[in-house]
Parts: sequence; C-alpha cells; structure tokens
Amino acid sequence: MLKLEHIDKQYAEHHALKDINVTFNPHETTVIVGPSGSGKSTLLRSLNLLEHPDSGLYTIDDRTIDLSQPVTTDTLLWVRRKTGMVFQQPRMFDHLTILGNIIEAPVHVLKQKKADATKKAHELLQAVDLDNTADRYPYQLSGGQTQRVAIARALAMEPDYLLLDEPTSALDPELEAQVLRVLNGLAKEDQSMIIVTHNMEFAREAADRMLFLEDGEIVFDGTPAEFFSEPTDRIKHFLNAFK
Ligand code: ATP
Ligand code: MG
Repeated sequence: MLKLEHIDKQYAEHHALKDINVTFNPHETTVIVGPSGSGKSTLLRSLNLLEHPDSGLYTIDDRTIDLSQPVTTDTLLWVRRKTGMVFQQPRMFDHLTILGNIIEAPVHVLKQKKADATKKAHELLQAVDLDNTADRYPYQLSGGQTQRVAIARALAMEPDYLLLDEPTSALDPELEAQVLRVLNGLAKEDQSMIIVTHNMEFAREAADRMLFLEDGEIVFDGTPAEFFSEPTDRIKHFLNAFK
C-alpha cells in the first residue's frame, strides 16, 4: 500500500498540491488525468520523493515518513527501490548496450549476480518484445523502443509500484501503440502502476481507477466507467478537448 496524507507542495507563489489524501492499492492500475499545470507530475514525483512535499505523511508498506522533516538518504533509497519511475524522455547510459543498461542497477544496487540479472533482463526484454535489441546501443533504438526498454529497466528493479509520467507523449501514434500494448499487458498481470497520460482510450481500457486533478486537488476519484459515463460538468469540459 502506498499512501499520501495531507500532502502539500508550494512552489514560490504557486500552490501545486493542496492537502492530497490518497491511497494506492497493490495490483491496481491508476491513471491520473487533468489539465496542464494541475499538479499531475508533482504528485507522481512526490510518490517516489523525487519531489519533496512541504508537509504531510508518506506511507509505503508499514513505514510512515513525516515529510515536514528532512528525509535520510537511506529512507530515500528505500522509497526509490519500492517505486520505479519511467520518464517521458528516458535517459540511457549511451556507452552501455541495452542489456548493460538494464542490468546496471540490479547488479550494482541490488547486488544481483550478473548471470541472474542477465537472465532476468532477457525475460523482461522479451516481455516488451525487444529481446533482439539486447546487444544494441541506445542510439540505435527508436523512441518507442527506448521507452519500452525504460519500462523493462524499471521493472528489473522489481518495484512494488511502477510510476509513469506521460510515457507516450513524445511518440508518434504507431510507437505509442507499441508502448501502450506493453502497459496493457502489465496491467493484466496486476503490476501496480500509476500512470499520468492524456490517452483516454488507454485509460478507459487499462485503468482500474482514475484520478482527475485540478489546481492541485483530486476532484474525481473513481472507476473509468464512472469517469466516462457519468462525468461531472468539469470532466465533460475536459473530455471535449479530446474529441
Ligand atoms: P502538464 O500536463 O503540463 O505536465 P502537470 O499537471 O504535470 O502539467 P506540474 O508539472 O505538476 O503540472 O506543475 C503543477 C504546477 O506547479 C504548475 O503550475 C507548474 O508551473 C508549477 N511547477 C512545477 N514545477 C515547478 C518548479 N520546479 N518550480 C516552480 N513551479 C513549478
Ligand atoms: Mg506533467
């Protein structure tokens, strides 16, 4: 379980997150939507403490962290291991092969044996339909392939929660479809995921739960069926932009 209580984040004069209270259950796919600037990335980044909220409580498993206090490096590393982040434009180590990129953290951080990490990496590459790229270098991949490698790399760390911030918004539709297929597969396998995306079709299909953010507040929390079939006036207005 990953839980935020009374989370606040202020940037200079902008109140980006306002008293956020939310619990993410294991094995669920949550899709976060909302207008630009509503705080989606800030919320997602707070979930692995890449962003340090000003106050509130952060709980993962049975460990609660008071965010009004400084967080120790140990705690931070522990949180980062529990929550894997996939960015919109993932960075790779250019001098390492794809396989090398995937096993880097499992070998050096988790201290896995290289042979074990390599075996797992091949399985993950297979899962994202890219095992043929193991010996290539990052510059030899398309954007969609890079994004799928980034997903495999995050999964190699066996995070309890996979966090993805607009993982397909830098991709053209065909490449986007490849990445969404992978995410759909993970959702079916009950990988816990929290995804910020503007792809409403994907949300409708893959999400167990949807959150709608506006002005730093969660103004909707429910199923995709409720979100799409009984939208509030505000959500209707938001959805009209996608038509
Ligand atoms: P988008 O859909 O455009 O990605 P978002 O919902 O992810 O938007 P956030 O990036 O979380 O929005 O930003 C929320 C608000 O906080 C915005 O008004 C943004 O300008 C502001 N903000 C975010 N990061 C910073 C920062 N480092 N310094 C100052 N203001 C920031
Ligand atoms: Mg964002």
